Amino acid sequence: MSNWRKDHLGASSSEPLKVIIIGNGPSGICLSYLLSGYTPYVKPDAVHPHPLLQRKLSEAPGVSILDQDLDYLSEGLEGRCQSPVALLFDALLRPDTDFGGNTESVLTWKLQKERAIPHVVLGRNLPGGAWHSIEGSMVTLSQGQWMGLPDLEVKDWMRRKRRGLRNSRATAGDIAHYYRDYVNKKGLGQSFVSGAVVTAVEWGIPEPSGSGAQDPSPLFQARRTVRPGWASPGRPCPSSTMSCRPWRWPSGRAQ
Ligand SMILES: Cc1cc2nc3c(=O)[nH]c(=O)nc-3n(C[C@H](O)[C@H](O)[C@H](O)COP(=O)(O)OP(=O)(O)OC[C@H]3O[C@@H](n4cnc5c(N)ncnc54)[C@H](O)[C@@H]3O)c2cc1C
Repeated sequence: MSNWRKDHLGASSSEPLKVIIIGNGPSGICLSYLLSGYTPYVKPDAVHPHPLLQRKLSEAPGVSILDQDLDYLSEGLEGRCQSPVALLFDALLRPDTDFGGNTESVLTWKLQKERAIPHVVLGRNLPGGAWHSIEGSMVTLSQGQWMGLPDLEVKDWMRRKRRGLRNSRATAGDIAHYYRDYVNKKGLGQSFVSGAVVTAVEWGIPEPSGSGAQDPSPLFQARRTVRPGWASPGRPCPSSTMSCRPWRWPSGRAQ
């Protein structure tokens, strides 16, 4: 594993990673963005249309959302998923989308490298996940805007690429391109390994530490293999094992 990290991540540590993300679709990209140290704060002049959430947000001005009580903030929010943290982030990123509104995100993002958590994102294809398997000319069912990730609006990206939305919809090809570009623009590329398929995740045996004593904390091991056609001189071994330890978000409030 240590050789693998030297080859692909430029890291020289043989320490297990904190996080291995399996799958490089929009979910994996967004998680990598957070783990890279990008930290959400409420814009000083923002007013959230949900009065209760607005009141709670105003109780801790200038404090990062990640340092607040996520259970408290997400209490009472409703939507199409079960995860309170996902509902909260949806409400902060796209405040009134479920009611057909277009209110801007109330979040602003700061890159705070001291918060970064070492991680790797393994994916079968290029960053963008399922969007690379969908016919490029197909138009999205959702509004193009809704496919955006933090701090890079799809409509602004499309404008810069001299592309346009059709009836507020983007093509699957544009969205796949947007996700790939997002990884580069946000400087996340060094954490991504494309063409890597995870074939097993299992408990591993901790390696003895330098002192000769066994480190008691358990390890997860992810076995991965490189897809045919993705190997390169920089990737000599077609398969290898990486490990990480069970981990909680530093605040202990999100996993
Ligand atoms: C035809 C079609 C149209 C759609 N239209 C819309 C739409 O209009 N609006 C909308 O919101 N959603 C739409 N979706 C759904 C959208 O694609 C998903 O919601 C979104 O891509 C989910 O993102 P994700 O990151 O969770 O997973 P995915 O995008 O599925 O990414 C996960 C990636 O992980 C890879 N992977 C899985 N297992 C492994 C492994 N063991 N090792 C390595 N890699 C692995 C997969 O190959 C995949 O590339 C559509 C889907 C399809 C198929």
